Amino acid sequence: MVIVMAPEASADEVEAIVSIVESAGGEAFVSRGVSRTIIGLVGDIDRFQTLGLRGKPGVAEVLRVSVPFKLVSRENHPTRSVVSVAGVPIGPDTLTLIAGPCAVETPQQTLAAARMAQQAGASLLRGGAYKPRTSPYAFQGLGEDGLRILADVRETTGMPIVTEVVDPNDVPVVARYADMLQVGTRNMQNFALLQAVGGCGKPVMLKRGMNATIEEWLMAAEYIAQRGNLDIVLCERGIRTFEKATRNTLDISAVPVAQGLTHLPVIVDPSHSGGRRELVLPLSRAAMAVGADGLIIDVHPAPEQALCDGPQALVADDLAELGRAVREFPPLVGRHLAAGAGVPA
Ligand code: PEP
Ligand code: MN
Repeated sequence: MVIVMAPEASADEVEAIVSIVESAGGEAFVSRGVSRTIIGLVGDIDRFQTLGLRGKPGVAEVLRVSVPFKLVSRENHPTRSVVSVAGVPIGPDTLTLIAGPCAVETPQQTLAAARMAQQAGASLLRGGAYKPRTSPYAFQGLGEDGLRILADVRETTGMPIVTEVVDPNDVPVVARYADMLQVGTRNMQNFALLQAVGGCGKPVMLKRGMNATIEEWLMAAEYIAQRGNLDIVLCERGIRTFEKATRNTLDISAVPVAQGLTHLPVIVDPSHSGGRRELVLPLSRAAMAVGADGLIIDVHPAPEQALCDGPQALVADDLAELGRAVREFPPLVGRHLAAGAGVPA
């Protein structure tokens, strides 16, 4: 909320507003311009509205400044949320590791990747059955057969599953199998899909569009929330810049910026940002240092044979080091690795 003082308002009138706001438990920030003074208020807006500020001497206007994303905004919900994915928390007290193959290819490959993920400390299994590919000639995913494989691997390992949906018509079938639905970067502004996952009854991971601003990302989350689903986790996965040395540019600042604007958890995908195996560990460390609530990482038992994104998949050796990092770093910042099947608390 902002109070615009009349040009002729006196210093005493400005001071009077400040003390009314402060005695109501708020903070008042006075900015004195050349022609007029404005006072920015921070605190309980509903309370401010009962103070009769509009009628006080020297006040010209009272403006209710509000962000356009109301349901996901931190303005009305200052406490950061925890989203539970089949009992696994993603939120401010934990670091949740989600890992698995980019795409579900076979039952053996998916199970092997899940075991690798679990050993590294992952409590959730990722894996795409519906793949949004740039080329129509590339492997498009196994569809419902892939979902069945994921469900079998969940049965064997106890790991809840996170999987992408690309078509609003597929939301019911994906929601039947998945514990969390993923909306990918290419679909961040597919509004029909956002509305469909908003009504699906399962948590949603919303990746940032590769060309989207943070505000557009939060507005996309608002579409999901508006359909009644507030179990949303945001995922920064790199944006398009002029830089060609990496697949995408990981916008590390987006993590604290988004966390300041929304109560929703924010995680990082270092695999799709860097696009190269050797960048995954340093980018993961950066993400944890900046306060990410989780990581989502590609792993594959035989990346040279992978049908999708092999060059960025971690193999057993890299995973040992990642496993150490996700166990050792979070306690330094007051978090712990989220527990799950095979991952002790
Ligand atoms: C993925 O996670 O498999 C994926 C396709 O990611 P993105 O949408 O970030 O490219
Ligand atoms: Mn991928």
